[in-house]
Amino acid sequence: EPELAGDFGTLMEWADKHRRMKVRTNAETPADCKMARQFGAEGIGLCRTEHMFFDATRISAVRQMILAEDEKGRRDALAKLLPEQRADFQAIFEVMAGLPVTIRLLDPPLHEFLPHSDAEFAELSDAIGIGVDTLKRRADELHEFNPMLGHRGCRLGITFPEIYEMQARAIFEAACDVAIASGEAIVPEVMIPLVATKRELAILKKVVDQAAAKVFEEKGKTLDYLVGTMIELPRAALMAGEIAEEAKFFSFGTNDLTQTTLGVSRDDAARFLSPYVEKGIYPRDPFVSLDVEGVGQLVQLGAERGRATYSALKLGICGEHGGDPASIAFCEKVGLDYVSASPFRVPIARLAAAQAALA
Ligand code: PEP
Ligand code: MG
Repeated sequence: EPELAGDFGTLMEWADKHRRMKVRTNAETPADCKMARQFGAEGIGLCRTEHMFFDATRISAVRQMILAEDEKGRRDALAKLLPEQRADFQAIFEVMAGLPVTIRLLDPPLHEFLPHSDAEFAELSDAIGIGVDTLKRRADELHEFNPMLGHRGCRLGITFPEIYEMQARAIFEAACDVAIASGEAIVPEVMIPLVATKRELAILKKVVDQAAAKVFEEKGKTLDYLVGTMIELPRAALMAGEIAEEAKFFSFGTNDLTQTTLGVSRDDAARFLSPYVEKGIYPRDPFVSLDVEGVGQLVQLGAERGRATYSALKLGICGEHGGDPASIAFCEKVGLDYVSASPFRVPIARLAAAQAALA
């Protein structure tokens, strides 16, 4: 249990009086959501759904979903995953008690979903009734040389819209159930990852809207909801004016935006970037503290162009930078509505947001 009383609590109260930006959290388990709320998080800015799929009881259905030969096979697998996914979201909506919750549809490392060893293939074949040879051929077809620049995010949703359809259904079923049971207004925010073009977002927004309409009819209950996108590719920032025609909110994914703008792998950077910082080429690790001169321009441009199209566009940041004080100061300047940080960084974000507003 975090200790939030005493001087710490007083300091946080002072900060909250002065800050303009809201502070949300990046969390995907009820325990993390609870902790973040104790630290003062005012919502979830990023609920990643990938990890939910790695659960030991689900992984064979997930592999079936990816490796099935046809849509029917995928739908069978997704039907197995729906109840658990609904329960994931229900628990989160309950803990968040009507605070905003942004759920990001699957942005998988597809290669991590695939079986690797012969034993894994054999076990999977037994579990889902598809021959080993077929599974191996499908896995070969899905092999990527550069998964982080590959079949990720909304691209997977474009290839297999039924995956996003299942997730959207799970979100709306859970939100309706919690809204009915608690009497609270739940306004789910559904976020599409790795969008580069307006067309991608338009296609997937339709999938989400259709799932919402079906669930509302089945439940006899209608909820307001928002569909928005991550801005985490330079093209998305540049085309933000057009993309905002399909979005109610943007969340800047500055982890990927840094990776794709600098052309530096976020997974390997730690191993070779320290001389860059020592030599002053980068003032600080750009994956920790936003490269405001370069990546920051794309954030600013994305915010301005998005708001020029839709003035009420909600703007946030959910990359690691959302918990870094210098980056938070930049977010204040650009006029973002909220920052989203990991639970333990929420207090720092509250303080930094206040300092930035006062400055
Ligand atoms: C990002 O890219 O900044 C982001 C928040 O998404 P993820 O870290 O899950 O890729
Ligand atoms: Mg990302």
